[in-house]
Amino acid sequence: MKRFWLAVATMAVCTAAGAQQAATHKWTIVVHGGAGVIERVALGPEGDKAYRKSLTEATMAGAKILDAGGTALDAVEATLHVLEDDPLFNAGRGAVFTAEGKNEMDSSIMDGATLKAGAVAGVTKTRHPISLARAVMDKSPYVMMVGPGADNFGAKQGLKQEPPSWFFTESRWQALVKQLAKEGKPIPPRPEGVPPEPGKTVPVAFYYDEAADPRSHGTTGVVVLDRNGNLAAGTSTGGLQGKMPGRVGDSPIIGAGTYASNQSCAVSATGSGEYFIRLGVAREICNLVRFKGMKIQDAADEVIHHELEALHGDGGVIALTPDGQTAFSFNTPGMFRARLAEGGKITVGIYNDEQ
Ligand code: ASP
Repeated sequence: MKRFWLAVATMAVCTAAGAQQAATHKWTIVVHGGAGVIERVALGPEGDKAYRKSLTEATMAGAKILDAGGTALDAVEATLHVLEDDPLFNAGRGAVFTAEGKNEMDSSIMDGATLKAGAVAGVTKTRHPISLARAVMDKSPYVMMVGPGADNFGAKQGLKQEPPSWFFTESRWQALVKQLAKEGKPIPPRPEGVPPEPGKTVPVAFYYDEAADPRSHGTTGVVVLDRNGNLAAGTSTGGLQGKMPGRVGDSPIIGAGTYASNQSCAVSATGSGEYFIRLGVAREICNLVRFKGMKIQDAADEVIHHELEALHGDGGVIALTPDGQTAFSFNTPGMFRARLAEGGKITVGIYNDEQ
């Protein structure tokens, strides 16, 4: 009997300590929707409003999970589902096209608590590539899978598969056509099952001249801290517009486009992927935090404004530490972004003169 009460008392103390520990972590979420030549004039008031609304919706989807005590990984997935389904962003539906007129998508996710990670590249069928990356992490012995093998694995895991017409958007198609024409390259046939050429009327929102900046806009990413103090990061993209089929960027490369460790920070990147891979941008930022004791904003700025710029790369990152410090850093005119911490107010930004 005495032993029973001792056990109950010990449990009570442990629970109180656990609760106290949990209470010290307020959740935080930081989202990006791509960096590039994103300017007020080109976006216009309507485009500006539409992007801010979408970024808010995605952030709130993750926040809802965190507020209910959910995990950072679940919040990453929920946030990116919204952006992957939103035609405004270059991920899932709305992904840019390869030079052959296909959507080849890349994605990755990382758990800061365990350093487990999952990634997929060149997938064409899975509606939510971030969930496929998560399935690779949780349900396979691998970290990375590519192409049809990855899609097939997703189908077997019950992940929704879609035809090319699901991922197709008229605005991305027209941007591809414009780019290929400018480069004197052949224009591929429109994908099967999509509506015929609309003539001059483009029905889907087409807010800025992407052909002026062929590096794609709208890669999506999120970094999250949950109430248990765990970090997670995820990134999802269609990659570069007009890319050669088979090209893979930084977004599915752990340590380049995505990284999370409870020891240092969580990062998701967007930009000219080849440079981000060469610099191992996401891991580099976390290493500066961990081994040099740098503040997250300083670490992110060091990598983006010094190391990346030295190579003439462009793009940006979002970053978050286990104690809830956040950072945005980008060397482009704009980066779609949002952040929200428990009990605070959401901030959404687009241009480089905003907070
Ligand atoms: N980083 C992505 C890639 O290189 C593209 C982007 O973020 O805009 O595939």
